[in-house]
Amino acid sequence: MQVDVVGAGLAGLLAARALSVQGHSVRLWGSAEPAPARAVALSGPSVDYLAGLCPEVGQLGAPIETIHVSRQHRFGHVQLHAQAMDQPNFGRVIPNDDLCLALDDALSGVERIDEQVEDLQPGWQLNDRSSEFVVLASGAPNLLRQAGIHWQSPTMSGELWVAIAKGAPVGTAYERFTDSGPLAILPMGQGRVSLVWQVEGPVTLDRVNRAIGHRVRLTDLQAEQRFPIRLHRADSLARPGLAVIGNASQFLHPVAGQGFNLIVRQLRCLLDQGLDDLSAFNRQALADQATWFQTTRTLAQIFQPALPGQGLALSALAVAGPAQRLFVKRFMEGA
Ligand SMILES: Cc1cc2nc3c(=O)[nH]c(=O)nc-3n(C[C@H](O)[C@H](O)[C@H](O)COP(=O)(O)OP(=O)(O)OC[C@H]3O[C@@H](n4cnc5c(N)ncnc54)[C@H](O)[C@@H]3O)c2cc1C
Repeated sequence: MQVDVVGAGLAGLLAARALSVQGHSVRLWGSAEPAPARAVALSGPSVDYLAGLCPEVGQLGAPIETIHVSRQHRFGHVQLHAQAMDQPNFGRVIPNDDLCLALDDALSGVERIDEQVEDLQPGWQLNDRSSEFVVLASGAPNLLRQAGIHWQSPTMSGELWVAIAKGAPVGTAYERFTDSGPLAILPMGQGRVSLVWQVEGPVTLDRVNRAIGHRVRLTDLQAEQRFPIRLHRADSLARPGLAVIGNASQFLHPVAGQGFNLIVRQLRCLLDQGLDDLSAFNRQALADQATWFQTTRTLAQIFQPALPGQGLALSALAVAGPAQRLFVKRFMEGA
């Protein structure tokens, strides 16, 4: 089938590669944009799937062997070890740019069209070219509107600060709930960590180190960026001959590192169900989306105010083996 993938971000690149491996004739519209300060934490199943399509991915970035969760100004934390759960690791942290490059390199056989799609007309016509099937992997509002897809956008104020630094222990990811919002410290390899913090105002090395507490001492902040927090989710992911994936289908709070993991699952669901009848894809992918949209939103809000009992709750999780396994399964595997 002739498939047009719109948007060459991570979702579009992955969709183009996976569809072409399935034997479709794929055109990919748009060009990838650099994101030097960003990395994604990918679960074990996501890494395995990506490595099946592009073996280089299994070597990129660095593994997460331990996850350390704590609350600023509260006693108690939880430390989860992959080996104690009979796994070599929980997944990998991979710089967005490296992942984009690896997927891009694997796109032999995919036709690249280095232009924006300005117009999507019934039929489906993209910039006057006709398509048998469209995968919308760009959040361009006009294209979603023309496809008849509507968004819900609940308000969530605040900003995300993103940077790279040096200095955290190899193999450990930290999730620290601070007064302003969650702070994630993800090991990227080569002594570097990717930082994502929900925080307002100027961030200095001293401020970020104070928020982290005594366990980690970061140095050498680089490539700082800021993003306003925005949340949205599409109310439908399919029309006859068209599927929506990626940021176009939802934008989650990054507190649980689930955005791209969810996209990988959505794409797998689409390919497993086939492009002819999208009703099962729409149902399953929307259910997965709704769960994670709500979970990440609640998680970002629940730990923000300094409520009593947060430290105790973390300590309880630390001693409860089955609860830990459930936590890990849910957050790393989306199950
Ligand atoms: C701070 C932060 C941290 C994150 N951390 C994690 C994490 O740890 N784990 C995880 O799984 N996820 C994480 N995510 C989520 C993850 O980064 C996203 O899910 C993923 O990057 C989405 O990729 P995308 O291709 O859907 O979207 P985008 O990167 O937005 O790509 C869309 C592409 O479409 C193009 N485009 C737009 N309009 C058009 C048009 N008209 N024609 C052609 N092309 C067009 C754009 O130029 C762009 O290249 C994080 C997100 C943020 C913001």
